[in-house]
Amino acid sequence: MAEIVIENYIGGEFIACDTHLDSFDPSTGTVWARIPDSGKNEVDLAVTAAKNAFPSWSSKTANDRSTILNKIADVIEANLEELAQAESKDQGKPVSLARKVDIPRAVHNFRFFATAFLHTANRSTLLEQAGAVNYTTRSPIGVAGLISPWNLPLYLLTFKVAPCIAAGNTCVCKPSEFTSVTSWMFAKLLNEAGLPPGVVNFVYGTGPKAGDAIVRHPDIPIISFTGGTVTAQKIIEASAPNCKKLSLELGGKNPAIVFSDADLDKCINRAIHSAFANQGEICLCTSRIYVQDAIYNTFITRFVEATKKIIVGNPKDSSTNMGALVSKEHLAKVKGYVRSAKEDGGKILIGDSVDELTLPKENEKGYFMLPTIITGLDDQSRCMQEEIFGPIVCIQSFTTEQEAIDRANGVKYGLCASVWTTDIGKTHRVAHKLQVGTVWSNCWLVRDLRMPFGGVKSSGIGREGAEESLDFYTEQKTICIQHS
Ligand code: NAD
Repeated sequence: MAEIVIENYIGGEFIACDTHLDSFDPSTGTVWARIPDSGKNEVDLAVTAAKNAFPSWSSKTANDRSTILNKIADVIEANLEELAQAESKDQGKPVSLARKVDIPRAVHNFRFFATAFLHTANRSTLLEQAGAVNYTTRSPIGVAGLISPWNLPLYLLTFKVAPCIAAGNTCVCKPSEFTSVTSWMFAKLLNEAGLPPGVVNFVYGTGPKAGDAIVRHPDIPIISFTGGTVTAQKIIEASAPNCKKLSLELGGKNPAIVFSDADLDKCINRAIHSAFANQGEICLCTSRIYVQDAIYNTFITRFVEATKKIIVGNPKDSSTNMGALVSKEHLAKVKGYVRSAKEDGGKILIGDSVDELTLPKENEKGYFMLPTIITGLDDQSRCMQEEIFGPIVCIQSFTTEQEAIDRANGVKYGLCASVWTTDIGKTHRVAHKLQVGTVWSNCWLVRDLRMPFGGVKSSGIGREGAEESLDFYTEQKTICIQHS
């Protein structure tokens, strides 16, 4: 029996849907919520509501919009604990992580974009020979389609909604069908914050049905999508007939390069966090670690010892470091990579298939997996090439700086990389040559929303951040006037 039945949020109202999908609590394997199985009809209604809200919302002053965005941040913050509990139950992550990272970041997204666009100036040029002046204007685009994944549900959804509406657009959002609950709670908070009806709408359901209807809708000219690379390819195709503006934040196969002069005390802890945080289900998680051969054995010994201390268990327990993976199917997929690694001659140092996982009785049917470390694989093996998106990290040794760079770049993805060294010259040299959107040196996941974020190669198209989100969510026009 589901605890919660979710309704679509359209035009400021909650509207029941005829058919529903089950949503599971990954830590127990039981159904805890039912979400609408929406399709074209529900998307059409939501687009109409968003279109009706656009003229008034887009003509408000930026300051008026800013006031509402700040109120939204306040109400999320006031409900932080409830949202963190729900995010954990829906996604499987430890409550402590949702409390510390997911929900505070949702608050920050609104506080940041409440003011981020208030201080920009238009461009102008003077063409003296032609006796003309040029200047630019910026306008919101209309109804945006915002499609988000299940790994950081409210965190990533609000990273789209906040800049989208701050710039004066309205939107139709589709959260992942695996993790819809916190966005529905968030919808109630939008009413409480006084957001006018129809500015933000939520349509729940699957990607091929509800998501595809958003992507194909002729009255949605702009789509921001975060998710898998294969899904992005479908979105590019489906949106092509309408030439939509797309921002695509996609998968990764992120390397860490650990040089022999690295501060290992700092590196080991952060590298473990980068591999296993959120059960390894962060697009930015480190998946391949290249360690310089002089320190390889020491690194492996210390990395394995520290990983053994990770507690996998009930996400509600404050001592838990790793919760459950998002779904039964995803757990099976991730475990399949361990089998594949063995077939490819890899050695499982600790974790799945070599150690036993004991769980509390209530979690025995949950989708848990031990953090797993694999060595001895060829760079071309599946585990070294494909995005796993779970608690598996592969470690290899390297000899020269150029070799490390070439091997780090030797995948189709290019989201982020981390470089561990105390030599600042080496940091710059290597960072410049890595084919990724973000390089962290001696740290991981230190985010500044003012900076551009996104991937290269199969990890994405476009950037998000203060200037970049403004560019994406507005259209510029050049006006040229001859005055003499
Ligand atoms: P996914 O691509 O399966 O789904 C993402 C969203 O797209 C969901 O809401 C889904 O319902 C929807 N969708 C699926 N098919 C669709 C279609 N045909 N048309 C329209 N919408 C469709 O991804 P996921 O499994 O939810 O998330 C994991 C992936 O997301 C990983 O690859 C991860 O790396 C990536 N990710 C990237 C970033 C980033 O910022 N680069 C951040 C988080 C996650």
